[in-house]
Parts: sequence; C-alpha cells; structure tokens
Amino acid sequence: MIPYGKQSIDQSDIAAVTAILKSDFLTTGPRILEFEKAFAAYVGATYAVAVANGTAALHLSCLAAGLKEGEELITSPLTFAASANCAFYCNAKPVFADINDQGLIDVDAIEKNITKHTRIIIPVHYTGLPCDMEKIHALAKKHNLTVIEDAAHALGAQYKRTRIGDCTYSDMAIFSFHPVKHITTGEGGMITTNSEVLYKKLLLLRTHGITKDPADYRNKDPWYHEMQELGYNYRMTDLQAALGMSQLKKADGFLARRRKIAETYNSSFATIKDISLMKEHPYQKNAYHLYVVRLKDAKARKDAFLHLQKNSIHPQVHYLPVYRHPYYRRQGYKRGLCPKAEAWYARCLSLPMYPSLSDEQQRSVVACLRESIEKAQ
Ligand SMILES: *Cc1c(COP(=O)(O)O)cnc(C)c1O
Repeated sequence: MIPYGKQSIDQSDIAAVTAILKSDFLTTGPRILEFEKAFAAYVGATYAVAVANGTAALHLSCLAAGLKEGEELITSPLTFAASANCAFYCNAKPVFADINDQGLIDVDAIEKNITKHTRIIIPVHYTGLPCDMEKIHALAKKHNLTVIEDAAHALGAQYKRTRIGDCTYSDMAIFSFHPVKHITTGEGGMITTNSEVLYKKLLLLRTHGITKDPADYRNKDPWYHEMQELGYNYRMTDLQAALGMSQLKKADGFLARRRKIAETYNSSFATIKDISLMKEHPYQKNAYHLYVVRLKDAKARKDAFLHLQKNSIHPQVHYLPVYRHPYYRRQGYKRGLCPKAEAWYARCLSLPMYPSLSDEQQRSVVACLRESIEKAQ
C-alpha cells in the first residue's frame, strides 16, 4: 500500500522519546523551550511557541491578534478547514478570496474582499508553495490588518530571500506536526513571531491564561499564581518536543528528498499534455508537503483516482473548497463563491509524496497514472 503521505520515524526518534519517559517531566519541561529555540532558529524567527496541534496554533494566533465577534478574517478556500474554522472559534466570520493560477490566494481577490470589519489575513502556502507575501504584507499595512501565515505545508519553503516562518512579511506563522507533514510530533504545532508582545500573549493563552512569571503577580505569597486571561490548555508535551527535536535534525534531508521526488514526477509527466503540473516562480521554493497534479477534467481525475487505488496506491484530493462543507453551507456560504477554487478541486489529485517513498514505488505511481490517461484516449 502506497499512501499519499506518511511519517518517517527511525531509531533515533524512538530513543529520544523513551529517554523522556524515564525523566521527571512528561508534559511541559525543559524539552519544550529547547524545541522552540531550535525551531525558531531553523526558520529564522525570534520566537516560537509550541502548542498541541496546528489548529490550536491558528486559534491562539487569532486570539493574540485580538480577533473579536463581528470581525472578518480572509483566507483561501483551497485549504484544510482549520485555516477558516479559527474565525468561528472567535465568533468572527471567515471570508474566502479566490485562488490564482498557482492555487494560492489571489492578492487582488483579497483586496476586493476587505471591508471595515476585516481584521486578519491568513494566506495558505498550499502544497508548500509560498504565497506572494510581499504584496500581501503591503496590503495588510495599508488597511492595518494582521497577517498570520498558515505554513502547515511549508516547513523549509523559501520566498525571495526569506524562509517561510521567519515572519519577514507577517505577524505570525503557524506550523503543524501531524504525521503527514514535514516533521511530526504525533499531534503538535508551532507559532513563530518576531513580536515580543505577541509572544507573551501566546504563552499566556497556551496555558489557561495563567501567568508563570512571579513578576506579574500582585501577591508575593510563594504558592500564588493567577489567571489573567481566558486561555486554554493547548500545551505540547515534553515527549512530543523530544520527538520534534529529533525530527527537526532531519528536516533538511526530508526536504531534499521531497524535492527530488517532485523533480522526478515533473520530468516524468512533462510531455503528457493531459497532466498540468504546479510550477515555481523563480522567487518561490516549494517545500512539497503535497505533490498536486491537475488532470484534463473531473472524469479523468476520478478514473485516475480509482485506477491508482485498484493498484494499492492511495492518492488524495486537496481540497474541497472549505465553504462547500455542510457546516459552511448551513452558515449560508453558496456553491460558486470561488469559481477558480472549484475548478481546481474538480481536477486535482495529490500523488504519493513522502521521504521514504522509494524510486521503485515512485516509478509504479508514474506508470499507473500514465496507464489511466492512455486508457482514456
Ligand atoms: C494540517 C493543517 C492544519 C492543521 O494542523 P493540525 O495539526 O492537524 O491541527 C492547518 N492548516 C493546514 C493547511 C493544514 O494542512
């Protein structure tokens, strides 16, 4: 069975986790700060805050940005539901700006959707391909908006001279360590920022809004601590942080393997006119969480999906435009809202992409997809 994505765990990861099981700390201990510092250094940000998962990272970032009831958050429809759900968590409204021909949120579409209620923009680096952050940042400055990058697909991606996560063109960036993502902690997430104010808010909100710093207390009794905001328990455990540290050491190797796999797919499909490939502009370096192709039409996509599946290869489709999920329909979002995202969804297919995919397995994926397309002709 060849899935579309999976984790790479080796003996050093197992040793890192078992060592923690024998230590004094299972949940928040010294490994958390160690992982945060290493992660911040890896992406080039000043601060990083480890949390329970990528969805918690989105929720906390919106809270730290001060998103409130009645306000609006603009994001891409071509993403995992969590990128937009965080607006509802804050009683705010997600607004969808259609995609461009790279599958990324279109900057002009963002501008058209800005109202006096808009507070946040969440660009999504779909598949690991960076959005045009310089333009998004300029637009946000002009309208006094917060930018939170959904970088769940984009660990190791580069935009112009920057690394995604260094927040050169944003206020915060969020990552996920779900097993299909670049590095895993089982469940886990990270928020990076260069703002000390946001960093402190995020730390407070991650753990019930209870401050840890005695300097913040009004009372100096030794047992005293106080809750200053309504926060959550969105902590990561030391077990997970130790796994994260071990995984992070291999991130460059994982990324190189992903890019090699993409190169092989690209050259294998280059001459097949019924397969459209995602291309990088010179200012983008895709981290290839996903490898997405688009087939001729909806029927060709379905045929290919079924043909691959029959041969024990399990592709996926990323994504049904978020507003077409039943929950969103019930909130009044209508089919046809973002025609380009709908057209993309009709034809897209995510092929197996993960570091341990062997050359031989990849050849069988390529052969199988070719077969499906030739059969249709
Ligand atoms: C995976 C993912 C998330 C959420 O991450 P979890 O760790 O699963 O909560 C958010 N946005 C995108 C685009 C994702 O792919």
